[in-house]
Amino acid sequence: MTDPMLSNSLVSARRRLADALAAAGRPADAARLLAVSKTKPADMIREAWQLGQREFGENYVQEALEKQRELVDLEGIVWHFIGPLQANKTRAVAEHFDWVHSVDREKVARRLNDQRPEALAPLEVCLQVNVSDEASKSGVSFDELEELAEAVLSMPRLRLRGLMAIPAPAADPARQREPLARLRQALESLRERFPDAPLDTLSMGMSDDLEAAVLEGATLVRLGTAIFGARNTSRR
Ligand SMILES: *Cc1c(COP(=O)(O)O)cnc(C)c1O
Repeated sequence: MTDPMLSNSLVSARRRLADALAAAGRPADAARLLAVSKTKPADMIREAWQLGQREFGENYVQEALEKQRELVDLEGIVWHFIGPLQANKTRAVAEHFDWVHSVDREKVARRLNDQRPEALAPLEVCLQVNVSDEASKSGVSFDELEELAEAVLSMPRLRLRGLMAIPAPAADPARQREPLARLRQALESLRERFPDAPLDTLSMGMSDDLEAAVLEGATLVRLGTAIFGARNTSRR
């Protein structure tokens, strides 16, 4: 039995993304929905999977591993690690995730590369960029991005797919678009600089700025609350 609330919110989220793509004049399959399931129980992920959702984002390694153990039977599920990544947590991420969005320094990339099991496909990687430097401490700066990209491209167990950002909140849509546009331009520059790299991903757009992100070329939008409901903020 699936929860009608979850079903409704997933349908609404899909419609919202479809509308945003149509408004941007982009193909219906130009961006996908990443369901951010942090703090939510494994049962909710199972229900979303039953409703056709395949890609899930998690922020906390230990919590994610527990849920993954309960959900090993779900075929085709794709796990994205999107939270801050400390060097001492890289092994678990290298062994248990398909994607990492939050690589922002060479040391972490190097460890993920060394720790990615041979039996698995290379780890899909996005570099997290600090697009609004006042607000956030995570993310590589635009100035250091090309150097980090070059280093990651030399690591055979990682596949550099693109860029991710968490912009500071902005009230009006025009303001929202500025950092997103800069992220898009940074990806375009990397594509020119490294034409053979599989750089096809812009991980940007959350509940508050999905439409702006889709206008600026997002290919993977990360929705948590809009799909699974509010999180218990006393916990995180
Ligand atoms: C929690 C989180 C999201 C989802 O945020 P919501 O406001 O719940 O939609 C997206 N991206 C990252 C990196 C997050 O940590």
